Amino acid sequence: MADVSGAEGGKRGKGPTPVMQQYFRAKEQVPDALLFFRLGDFYEMFYDDARKASAVLGLTLTRRGLDDVGEPIPMAGVPHHAATEYLAKLLEAGLKVAFCEQMADPSTVRGIVPREVTRVVSPGLSLDEATLDARRDNTIAGVTARSGGYVVCAYDVTAGRAKVESADDVAAVLAALVRAEPREVLLAHGVEAGFVGLDTLLARALVRPLPPVEPQLSASLAADHAGVLAGISGDERDALLALLGEAQRGQPRARIVLDVVDRGATTSELGMDETVVRSLELVQTTRGERRGSLLDHLDETRTAMGARLLRRRLLAPVSDLPTIRRRHDAVEQLVSDPRLAERLGQALGAVLDLERLATRASLGVSTPKDLGALRASLDASDEVARVLGERVALPHGDALAAFDAVDRLPGLHTRLARDLADEPAAELGKGGVIRAGADATLDAHRHVVDHARDLVLALEQRERTRTGIGSLKIKYNRVFGYAIEVTRSNLGSVPPEYVRKQTIANGERYVTEELADLEARILSAESDALAREAALFEGLVAEVAAHGEPLRSLGRALAALDVSRALAAVAARDGWVRPGGDESRALELRDARHPVVEAMLPTGRFVPNDVVLDADGVRLAVITGPNMAGKSTVMRQAALAVVLAQMGAFVPCTSARIGRVDRLFSRVGASDDVTRGQSTFMVEMTETAAILAGATSRSLVVVDEIGRGTSTYDGLAIAWAVAEHLLETVRCRTLFATHYHELCALPERHAGAVNWNVLAREQRGEVTFLHRLAPGAANRSYGVSVARLAGLPELVLARARAILADLEAGKGPVRAGGTAQLTLFAPPEAPAWEKTLRGLDVERLTPLDALVALARLRAMLPPEDPR
Ligand code: ATP
Repeated sequence: MADVSGAEGGKRGKGPTPVMQQYFRAKEQVPDALLFFRLGDFYEMFYDDARKASAVLGLTLTRRGLDDVGEPIPMAGVPHHAATEYLAKLLEAGLKVAFCEQMADPSTVRGIVPREVTRVVSPGLSLDEATLDARRDNTIAGVTARSGGYVVCAYDVTAGRAKVESADDVAAVLAALVRAEPREVLLAHGVEAGFVGLDTLLARALVRPLPPVEPQLSASLAADHAGVLAGISGDERDALLALLGEAQRGQPRARIVLDVVDRGATTSELGMDETVVRSLELVQTTRGERRGSLLDHLDETRTAMGARLLRRRLLAPVSDLPTIRRRHDAVEQLVSDPRLAERLGQALGAVLDLERLATRASLGVSTPKDLGALRASLDASDEVARVLGERVALPHGDALAAFDAVDRLPGLHTRLARDLADEPAAELGKGGVIRAGADATLDAHRHVVDHARDLVLALEQRERTRTGIGSLKIKYNRVFGYAIEVTRSNLGSVPPEYVRKQTIANGERYVTEELADLEARILSAESDALAREAALFEGLVAEVAAHGEPLRSLGRALAALDVSRALAAVAARDGWVRPGGDESRALELRDARHPVVEAMLPTGRFVPNDVVLDADGVRLAVITGPNMAGKSTVMRQAALAVVLAQMGAFVPCTSARIGRVDRLFSRVGASDDVTRGQSTFMVEMTETAAILAGATSRSLVVVDEIGRGTSTYDGLAIAWAVAEHLLETVRCRTLFATHYHELCALPERHAGAVNWNVLAREQRGEVTFLHRLAPGAANRSYGVSVARLAGLPELVLARARAILADLEAGKGPVRAGGTAQLTLFAPPEAPAWEKTLRGLDVERLTPLDALVALARLRAMLPPEDPR
């Protein structure tokens, strides 16, 4: 192919070849992307792109031609049919890839094939199935500044869904980002300084600058999406348009989709910061695994769309009662009708990713297989509608509305059923996309392809009959093509319209108009068939695209049904109940369990506990108990019950009443943040500060071991002051676990506080954890016994016991009750050597005095330890 060899580059001094000129022009449009430049069957990369790609993909770096200064041009290529696999790896490595495609069939073009950049793909803007996780949103986020704070936007190009929220400070931005789980974060010029280390916090995300806004692009996006953007104004609108602009630049040939803009926390979300999401292990454990997370426990969804919605809801529970109740109604309906739930589950099982499939059609990147999947999903959703239709009173209003909207598109479904092959090919270009009988022209082309030989024989037969020449033959020759051969003896019967083409040994060869026509048809039939098929397919895609919005809305409705069904399945499986919610500030969990810990233990081994608080009464529980007794578990399960209830799920209790919670704070388990250069103590204090600043009387605060990372007195003083502040100033519901038994004196001074302890028993040095929460303070710690369980050497344990006995004998047993304990750690009277040491005035000491003092000190030391 002349065009391809043109990539050889220019010889020295001659300048680049036309193809390389074309390459440079394309590269100029997307300087920050790795350019996949289509040359025949390959995407080729040159120069630095080639070096980078060969490093990431393990490709052999070759050289093609010479550049202007006579250096060979580095090149690397990937076969076009395997491009998505390579693309997935490049995106995973955080790179951006631009595709420069051939805009015409090279065999039909003389000279240079026209080429254009058709799309730019970055991790957060990918539409290729192979590069996406079907069960989680693929979002790109943008952070911009506004007066007095920031705006955070997130956009999922695969779903046409955006979220925009204003954030007052860096912590609020981080909370929004952690919950949006972006693959890519774009920081507007000037805000970067506040977000150093962001890529470490958001392990999956590529962080890069937000390109400057192009006013024209913003204006056309605003016009395109005027409806959905109507409620968004000011800084939020500008921020969203800036982010959408970047998404639109990635799709130069189509209009990006925007169906839904969610206002996020500004409306009615349950406030949860980064620490809550992490410490409650909502979507992954602290070790970064999905197994062991709440999401993993809950995910009984049957569709990818449902799985994504479940994750989204878990990361953004709400705080308005009508929404919560509506979701509970839907779950309850399915819990109380297991047969309906079962049939719904089966029907949903056949629904594919309608949302992403419809978006791909809207953006003109559908494959035939996509449309097949879309059609199958429409079939399946008909079945879902049938199952639902039998239950008129279903609390699934949204779903029914979406079904209605799609019911108004019968034309689309019928057309897909009629025109698309049963199992459409994965890609265009090899046939097998449009069903036989769908289009007369395509059928005619295919007929020619399939029956070329029969058609020639039929014509031959017709000509024999017409001319009466029984020996007439139609023959094919590679050089001259088809011809009618007539032997010399029959030349007299040749009709006048036969055109002589060639003389052969024993006769003549002729062509007729009909034969020439047939020949042309045979030769072009295959490409005609493929071209016709492509055109028909484009027509189908356009038809789907025209209905993109209702199709995605159907997808969203099916996702909601799937989530309700999954939550009902979990509730039935694990014996969960519908929580009551109201405007009170009570928290009343009866026989609460921790869903994940319970599932890990043998059946029946988990000990349920009651947690009952009321912001208007007893609101702060000081929880004491031995290590390993279950303090963290009981606190986490209370917080998880709130998350579950307010995301719309049932809860692992025998009964529950939750006065609407506006913000949830949870500091359970230590977390270092070495990546941001903070010590354990510093992180703990920062998180505590965030709680004190953010909590309201409607919040739930769950804190474990405040003040642990510093000296006893400092720690105790901080813990006491924090508890007091929550109790008296914030007046929120609080669970406060601590090893400072001194804190058990709080309830003596504050009517709003109560002591709870997690019971344990010790017999002959063996500690047994009962995991039962009981009123009152724990009377001991069993720390040494627990250390023994952990395998500390007996020698160390014996010594620890002795020291403990000394301490307890000297200052009384460690018991609840105010100031007595404060003296426990008071320094014992200073020993003689210390007094001597303190008495020395080092500044005035002569060397000789120093030696004498040292000798005296040495003499004062206690006898050496026999060990
Ligand atoms: P530490 O003070 O050392 O942090 P802790 O009191 O917070 O300990 P947890 O981490 O809550 O203890 O629980 C320790 C283990 O005890 C859990 O991993 C679980 O296996 C078990 N456990 C906790 N609560 C219960 C329960 N209610 N029923 C049965 N087992 C439980």
